Amino acid sequence: MTERLSPDATGLDRAAALLRAGDLVAFPTETVYGLGGDARSDIAVARIFEAKGRPRFNPLIVHVPDIAAARALAHFDDRAERVASAFWPGPLTLVLPLRAEAGLSALVTAELTSVAIRVPAHPVAQGLLRAFGGPVAAPSANPSGRVSPTRADHVMEGLSGRIAAVVDGGASAVGLESTILGLVGAAQLLRPGGIPAEVLEECLGVPLPTGADPARPVAPGQLASHYAPGAAVRLGVTTPTPGAVWIGFGRDCAGAALNLSETADLVEAAANLFHALREADRIANDLIEVAPIPDHGLGRAINDRLRRAAAPR
Ligand code: AMP
Ligand code: MG
Repeated sequence: MTERLSPDATGLDRAAALLRAGDLVAFPTETVYGLGGDARSDIAVARIFEAKGRPRFNPLIVHVPDIAAARALAHFDDRAERVASAFWPGPLTLVLPLRAEAGLSALVTAELTSVAIRVPAHPVAQGLLRAFGGPVAAPSANPSGRVSPTRADHVMEGLSGRIAAVVDGGASAVGLESTILGLVGAAQLLRPGGIPAEVLEECLGVPLPTGADPARPVAPGQLASHYAPGAAVRLGVTTPTPGAVWIGFGRDCAGAALNLSETADLVEAAANLFHALREADRIANDLIEVAPIPDHGLGRAINDRLRRAAAPR
């Protein structure tokens, strides 16, 4: 049962307690309703992908209450300081170099060395972020492939029973998504949205080329900063090769060096995936083998990531 919470102190305290427990809470922002989870928790972020039915682990936007909280997650240069002070709080997302000590789940950044951050202006979003006191990963609160929700009722239509709660803060004002500005290297417009590109160009004093979306790469080189194991990776292995590091899934993997989830829980497997690949790579000589993962629900995103790890390089 998905709780419908009021946007007052009682509702926000309840929402913050759910986030602290690793549960998912949808909340209004000035763009669309976001589906929030603790950005530091692998399990919470895995649940976001599960609830939305996303077929791949693309990076998520991290929401914080103010620029000071944002500076704890990313490196701000002069340009970032200038646009942040001009447009935050507001419908602008900045992609910035990730701080090594940020403490975010690897699933939030899809293992990129950059992070997307936004300070929402909506008073309910602000209230929730302050009540929770930590970074909140929040894509739009709709099933993958459906239109973004601008009311609590829309969230319920798509996600009722799949998330812990929705904070009902009325209709979103903009309905557009946030503009995404990339500030890793040359400034790039990564996604048009609530703040027009011309207004950002004026503030930055440079023209903004439209960058390709790294979540939907057109050239393989754009994924270069994704982590790729040094060892070869084979998938769908039920009888491991002697000498290989076998990553298991489920109970029938006696002898596996690591297991994504002994209870065959796909959320747990997604939460463990990136760490398991790194650990397997650390202990492997030259071959990592992975047990079959069911190709439904979160399993599709896990298999997508595994196929890319196994692709010839
Ligand atoms: P949404 O579904 O609205 O949360 O969309 C998130 C968008 O932010 C996607 O288009 C991502 O490609 C983009 N994004 C998030 N994190 C990053 C990042 N670290 N680098 C580049 N783009 C990012
Ligand atoms: Mg969306």
